[in-house]
Amino acid sequence: MSHHGVSQRIEDERERERLKALLDSSIGEQTLDVSGGFIVRTAAEGVGDEELIGDMHFLLRLWRKVSERKISAVPATVIYDDLPLFMRTLRDVMRDDIEKIRIDSRENFVRLVEFAEEFMPDAVDRIEYYPGERPIFDLYSVEDEIQKALGRKVQLKSGGYLVIDPTEAMTTIDVNTGGYVGHRNLEETIFKTNLEAATSIARQLRLRNLGGIIIIDFIDMEDVEHQRQVLRVLEKALERDHAKTKCTGVTELGLVQLTRKRTRESLEQTLCEACPTCSGRGTLKTPETVCYEIFREILREERAYSAETYMVLASQPVVDRLLDEESAAVADLEAFINKTIRFQVEQHYSQEQYDIVLM
Ligand SMILES: [Zn+2]
Repeated sequence: MSHHGVSQRIEDERERERLKALLDSSIGEQTLDVSGGFIVRTAAEGVGDEELIGDMHFLLRLWRKVSERKISAVPATVIYDDLPLFMRTLRDVMRDDIEKIRIDSRENFVRLVEFAEEFMPDAVDRIEYYPGERPIFDLYSVEDEIQKALGRKVQLKSGGYLVIDPTEAMTTIDVNTGGYVGHRNLEETIFKTNLEAATSIARQLRLRNLGGIIIIDFIDMEDVEHQRQVLRVLEKALERDHAKTKCTGVTELGLVQLTRKRTRESLEQTLCEACPTCSGRGTLKTPETVCYEIFREILREERAYSAETYMVLASQPVVDRLLDEESAAVADLEAFINKTIRFQVEQHYSQEQYDIVLM
């Protein structure tokens, strides 16, 4: 369809006007030599003019190419399919402020340059082949950064640290001073830690691609001027963010509220899955808790069936506890039901896992 429109799901009237005007002006400047139109989808909300125009130019070139192929293609040939990862990365991540894209595969480098020549001419000069011996991820400490960006704790140079906890409803970030801080310079140390935290938080939000509501608990500061400066540094650091980020103020309890537009999945959602041992809770029932579950389960079984003996299969720490700290309780239970209870370690069982076998 040769229609240009803005998605109904973008509700803000002013934003709709901006996007419509942008569509009109940038299409006006470039006559459409192929049939087709544009629909501005919700992902475009809050995205800068330059980025959107770049995207439109890319799509126009691509659509021209597809239209050409369509004319000469014989039936049952592919005229377009989604790009491989390294090309998608160029398409989605390339911006004016990116100085260089280095790639360690000669073959993919050649393909990427060809692709850029056709669809993203501005990017061509910035694509560089990396022939080095040293793995490119090591060269830029990418592996380390990923590891850090997946951890809860982020160390700050000043000795303080952040604790970042994404939950279903929001992400909370707690700022802490490291260890003992002398009395004399307490306020100064806190101020410095908060300043460093503000910059680090903005970076971590980008690296981790955390979206939605973000609540920051800076260390309490008496000095109102210090509070203002920390907020200013945070806002300044957030300006570099390409996802729309808004500081919505400080709550009564001194928590700083942000919203950050969700774009794709977070780094953790992309690279990780819930831990199968604890089902993503992050904690396991203690051996003690599991022992008492087992006792209750044996009593339940005893009422329902009549067994000669009970055999408990459980993990090493649970069996250890049953034979040691809980041995008196086991003896009491045996006396109560007048049966023998035996134990066997199952090496592959997780701490919470057990079976009770009637023999
Ligand atoms: Zn776990």
